[in-house]
Amino acid sequence: MAKPKVAFYWCASCGGCEETVVDLNEDILKVADAVDIVLWPVALDFKRKDVEALGDGEIAVSFINGSVRLEEQEEMVKLLRQKSGLVVAFGACAHLGGIPGLANFCSREEIFQWAYKEAPTVDNPQGIIPQEKVAIDGGELTLPEFYDTVKTLDQTIPVDYYLPGCPPPSDSVMNAVNAILTGQLPDKGAVLAPEKALCDTCPRKETKPEKISITEVKRPWQIKIDPEKCFLVQGLFCYGPATRSGCGETCINANMPCRGCFGPVDGVVDQGAKGISMFASILGIDSEHKLSQEDVNNLVNQIADPGGTFYRFSLASSILRRKRM
Ligand code: SF4
Ligand code: SF4
Repeated sequence: MAKPKVAFYWCASCGGCEETVVDLNEDILKVADAVDIVLWPVALDFKRKDVEALGDGEIAVSFINGSVRLEEQEEMVKLLRQKSGLVVAFGACAHLGGIPGLANFCSREEIFQWAYKEAPTVDNPQGIIPQEKVAIDGGELTLPEFYDTVKTLDQTIPVDYYLPGCPPPSDSVMNAVNAILTGQLPDKGAVLAPEKALCDTCPRKETKPEKISITEVKRPWQIKIDPEKCFLVQGLFCYGPATRSGCGETCINANMPCRGCFGPVDGVVDQGAKGISMFASILGIDSEHKLSQEDVNNLVNQIADPGGTFYRFSLASSILRRKRM
């Protein structure tokens, strides 16, 4: 019997999600044994025309990581959608926009200006900026359009399932592959991770009091972090209350606060707004110490890079979506 066909594709991403697949170690042999990989640009030499030659829906499942930044990425994910029975948004960037989505705080012109002219490491005396079309030696070279706004995968094509995380842990990838191969999948649109918030599974949850009051916001490098205590109690922003569990508490176990890469729990529309609301509710709540407006401003000013802190992984999927220019 023919094995189910599987594709892996990457859009605007760092390659970490590809690492996760490699991190399956010997399990990757089980995957390779059970499926027929028909596209995996990072590891195998298949071409776009190989995908075009397949029938519609012939690929059982496409795992697509990265957000959609370029015209070429949009074309490829539309092609994969057409050729695939299932599409899984693989990792935080495909799911929520991820770190590349933070570029939505800038315009394309600002990004090009910085990346090709102003950044201190740039050596570009002629100020050359990539062009979509360049005439050269009687011919023409083309580059895909660089869109002004980064999009999530489901803002580009319909997505069947989401595998969250930056990157998704290998065991959740293996569980997803097994679920797909055995047909034991939840309803379409589901995030393939537990519904509970990270605080519910955190090894430090017993040290998180019912009511927390922070009168000073700190950053991890500013203090010696107690490895047993809830980060919030220590004045560090931890995204655990507003983030889905399932990562294995990777950052917590490395004594670093959660940054929210698994995205919000079900029913939360905007993870950043939820994070702001959660954090605002514990800033300076202290019956002994009534805060003045100046105190509040000082506290808020202690949050370095609020946009990057609260919308680190989710700006492109948020209600804001991008900075209004
Ligand atoms: S806020 Fe962070 S450290 Fe505290 S219990 Fe939740 S996940 Fe754990
Ligand atoms: S602790 Fe938070 S940021 Fe770290 S892997 Fe888990 S969900 Fe992602």
